[in-house]
Amino acid sequence: MSNTIKAVLIDISGTILVGQEAIQALQRLQQQQNLKILFLTNSSTSHAALLQQLRSAGFDESAITNINSIMTRVFQLQKKISYTKQTASILLEDALIESEFNELDMNDPNCVVVGLAPNKLNYQRLNEAYRLLAKLKSSSNDTTIDCSIQSKSHLGCNRELSLGPGRFVSLLEQSSGVTAHVIGKPSSNFYNEALSVLGIDDPSQALMVGDDVVGDVKGALDAGLGHAILVKTGKYTAGDENGNKTEGILPTLTVGSIVDAVDYICSNF
Ligand SMILES: [Mg+2]
Repeated sequence: MSNTIKAVLIDISGTILVGQEAIQALQRLQQQQNLKILFLTNSSTSHAALLQQLRSAGFDESAITNINSIMTRVFQLQKKISYTKQTASILLEDALIESEFNELDMNDPNCVVVGLAPNKLNYQRLNEAYRLLAKLKSSSNDTTIDCSIQSKSHLGCNRELSLGPGRFVSLLEQSSGVTAHVIGKPSSNFYNEALSVLGIDDPSQALMVGDDVVGDVKGALDAGLGHAILVKTGKYTAGDENGNKTEGILPTLTVGSIVDAVDYICSNF
């Protein structure tokens, strides 16, 4: 484990979107010399909408510098689809499809994209996706649910834990026999891409802070990051730090909130 930290990756939902104290803590972190910061989120919203959401919550230019300081899985999804020239059947909310995937060819789809889409993950649409996957699987063993997002739970609009897209992806995998490819946390590819954006060659010199013990802690440590701090806000539930959900992988540190995480980082690195 490296004692030198050059980069801090920070989750957004449930980690920094938790009140005014978080804003002040982030500003303190940004004053640290030689520390690169990137916000890493599985949010299924567009870059622009996310930036607006953060600004509405009180994060000004000094806290969220610009759009390039945020990496979203939607952006990675766009990159993958366009790079592999896929045509997709997309289970995402209409507003997101219109803003981020409007140039995508959706005729004769050869992959299924699943994200957080409470209005789309219904019996009819899941059945359509299942039939498409079964048809693709029968014509090619290489078929995958190429671009899926796999969190098992999320905070719903009423701030209560709700079923995440990962549950529906598992259903499609089990019913069609097609394997999912994960975009976003906890995928190591997502973390590697984030470190690449920051110009960090040695993942042990990076630290992750988040409220999701699987996506933020296990994902980061699996990708080789030196440290992963779990915060007891957002989707954290009692006992998450005990390794029961993470095959025994433990957070480097578990603290009350992003404020405590920043205190630790500023005192130790
Ligand atoms: Mg979170």
